[in-house]
Amino acid sequence: MAEFIDGKAAAAEVVEKVKTETVALTEEGITPGLAVVIVGDDPASQVYVASKSKRAKECGFHSVQHTLPAETAETELLALVKALNADPAIHGILVQLPLPDHIDSARVIQTIAPEKDVDGFHFINVGKLGTGTLDSAFVPCTPAGAMLLLKRVRGTDLSGLNAVVIGRSNIVGKPMANLLLAANATVTIAHSRTKDLPAVARSADILVAAVGRPQMVRGDWVKEGATVIDVGINRIPAPEKGEGKTRLVGDVAFDEAEKIAGAITPVPGGVGPMTIAMLMANTLVSACRANGRVPPSL
Ligand code: NAD
Repeated sequence: MAEFIDGKAAAAEVVEKVKTETVALTEEGITPGLAVVIVGDDPASQVYVASKSKRAKECGFHSVQHTLPAETAETELLALVKALNADPAIHGILVQLPLPDHIDSARVIQTIAPEKDVDGFHFINVGKLGTGTLDSAFVPCTPAGAMLLLKRVRGTDLSGLNAVVIGRSNIVGKPMANLLLAANATVTIAHSRTKDLPAVARSADILVAAVGRPQMVRGDWVKEGATVIDVGINRIPAPEKGEGKTRLVGDVAFDEAEKIAGAITPVPGGVGPMTIAMLMANTLVSACRANGRVPPSL
């Protein structure tokens, strides 16, 4: 049976460290500030934004939420982002995606000052991660959290290990692959056009699934003793819980994979909780950098 990698506990540890560091910073007159911007009334986005703002308050941050109507003009949103860029009380700016269709998301994201881009989506931060310039980069929160979980099991140096990332999105797959490379793993990025995906997956000492297809990775795709990081969050019907009920599953068939893997993240309770914790960590790091302090290692 695989070791169970507890993302809830790891996320709680990160948040505790952030809280402690925030107390110390605040005593010196520096309060980390996070601004979360949401446009429109997408229910899922509202839930995410509410939990980000709530967690920021719990961390002792100056937490600001801007809720704009769906018909907000792009120029208005850009003006808000620019105002937040110029506000010294704000160290992190997060614009919740997706934005309404009439707004160019890329333009909005690229307008966020790179040093306040705690989501790590600005080209400057993407470039820093791609060139291994991690000291001054912001790394997207989900892969950063996944990496932290992986390091708990495998340590910080992945030399000699084969890592396979399934999924090549800009927010998970690609940054995850770059993080693995920066940690000296030998990295393969697999995706929907990959030939014989099960065989590629079986070559992995570290297998990261970030696809969005429920339980796609079967037990016989997993190499004996591999570390499996399941980023997928998929809602599927759960008639066993009652009519119309659903449950969350990952991209990995957990019950099969845990019999073969050396360690595995569950869904829920694996990578999921790490995302908001890493957002808090990034905001704290940003506040430290803005004030010439060396950020704590989290
Ligand atoms: P995405 O749709 O942007 O990218 C999916 C990737 O999977 C693509 O690169 C595609 O090539 C690949 N893919 C699709 N079908 C495939 C197939 N049959 N075989 C191999 N590869 C295939 O998704 P994303 O934003 O990267 O998210 C991936 C998953 O991670 C989703 O389930 C999402 O919900 C989850 N996610 C979780 C968190 C979190 O834990 N907080 C955050 C972001 C995303």
